[in-house]
Amino acid sequence: MESEALIMSDFNWCHGSECHTKHTVDRVRGVKGSKVLRTRKVPINRWNENTVWRFFCSQSCLMDFITHHCAEFIEERYPRTEALETPIKDPEKRNHSTEYGYSWTTTHLEVDETRQID
Ligand SMILES: [Zn+2]
Repeated sequence: MESEALIMSDFNWCHGSECHTKHTVDRVRGVKGSKVLRTRKVPINRWNENTVWRFFCSQSCLMDFITHHCAEFIEERYPRTEALETPIKDPEKRNHSTEYGYSWTTTHLEVDETRQID
């Protein structure tokens, strides 16, 4: 039916490449004699709808995905052939001291808004 195609899914299957191999009771599905460990559903809600967490059920699934797909994704889609730079003003050393005689130096870094940022 055409109208069904317009209905947005309210979940994603977890994109973790190993999700269906992890031994947790909540992944067990199927009838007796033919049980399986199944990829988790990730419900889409207002906390994850605009984040990477709408695709992954856990941090380990995110890391599995990155481990398996990071190289192809970066090399093919988002290659970085040169370093990026943020223009800054000349760093300024600042001396600080307490009335108890303790002193230290910090280096103040500030973005130079007057120079072009790519
Ligand atoms: Zn998962």
